[in-house]
Amino acid sequence: MIKSLRGMNDILEENEYKRFTYFLKVASSVAEKYGFHYIETPLLEETSLFKRSVGESSDIVGKEMYQFIDKGENDVCLRPEGTAGVVRAFIQKKLDRAGGTHRFFYYGPMFRYERPQKGRLREFHQFGVESFGLESVYEDATMIMMVADILNELGIGYRLQLNSLGDQNCMPQYRDNLVSFIESVEDKICEDCKRRKETNPIRVLDCKNEHCQALYENAPKLLNALCESCESDFNKLKKILDANNIAYEIDTNLVRGLDYYSKTAFEFVSDNIGSQSAIAGGGRYDRLVEFLDGRPTPAVGFAMGIERLMELIEMPNENRNGYYFGAMDDEAVNLIITTTQKKRKSDKATCEYRARNLKAHLKNADKANARYCCIIGSNELENGTIWVKDLEEKREETVKLEDF
Ligand SMILES: [Zn+2]
Ligand SMILES: [Zn+2]
Repeated sequence: MIKSLRGMNDILEENEYKRFTYFLKVASSVAEKYGFHYIETPLLEETSLFKRSVGESSDIVGKEMYQFIDKGENDVCLRPEGTAGVVRAFIQKKLDRAGGTHRFFYYGPMFRYERPQKGRLREFHQFGVESFGLESVYEDATMIMMVADILNELGIGYRLQLNSLGDQNCMPQYRDNLVSFIESVEDKICEDCKRRKETNPIRVLDCKNEHCQALYENAPKLLNALCESCESDFNKLKKILDANNIAYEIDTNLVRGLDYYSKTAFEFVSDNIGSQSAIAGGGRYDRLVEFLDGRPTPAVGFAMGIERLMELIEMPNENRNGYYFGAMDDEAVNLIITTTQKKRKSDKATCEYRARNLKAHLKNADKANARYCCIIGSNELENGTIWVKDLEEKREETVKLEDF
């Protein structure tokens, strides 16, 4: 028997597909309300796209990519995340030269060759949005409000964590100060942090090692070293979130560590799946378009992992809906199929292809969660009528087929 690959799941059980499609429906409709439109990009891209955007020093690119040489000798890779492809498409379609604002949302599978564990798959799904062309911090606030709307509509509780990553004015100076600090405690930090000091010093701040964390409590904080523009934007962001009743916590250890990230960084965490699990994350990446050879374009976005959210979703009560059709006589089967087909123009309708007795049809209709069970037997066939039972209100009647 052939099985799916390790870390790659089918979504077909009722509990899963219903949650999955409900999530997509809610998230897409919220994004559309905010004026974002759908974008689809290929699953397969040139490996260099991710090397340049996600960064060669990251674990994603260093260890986790599904990378191979295709039959045309191209070095290609299954996308490990969604932003790079959207930015590539944005530049390729010359939208960076067109100017204006461009807002996209996407969803689909992402691939990372990681050790599979609960809540972490090799093929997983993300929903994300990207906004290009707006420098205003109010767009960052809008992103945050969009995530909050999606989570609220899904009945998912969260805490929002905020930080500012500075910009080209204030970050380099801060980084130098941080490196000096790391050097002062270098003999006590973990091996990962020693490596990060060389490749990506900011990332030491989110080291999961407790000893490291204790040491970094005394590290200089970027929030205390922001330049005027970054500080003013961060204050505006807090103010507008306050005005819209969105609670947040400041987390100075919330970092991204790639040069194209700047200013706003945010993460939504849930306390209901493991300890402090991130369920959505995003922020501003004003220099990524330029990093990928586009014209400098401010941008901000977020992504959320769908599998992580699945078990947290509160599903709405499902009412009976639609029609179930059945024949009690072989002669009536054709008419049943035709009538079902007509009903499908306006409603959900299913039918049974074999003639069965009434009890069997009622059972099927119940199983299909249909509101109406509609039956044609020999009597109805003769009189041009159909028997209809409303399974919700427990009422039944026989009506003329032409009036049905
Ligand atoms: Zn460490
Ligand atoms: Zn700054």
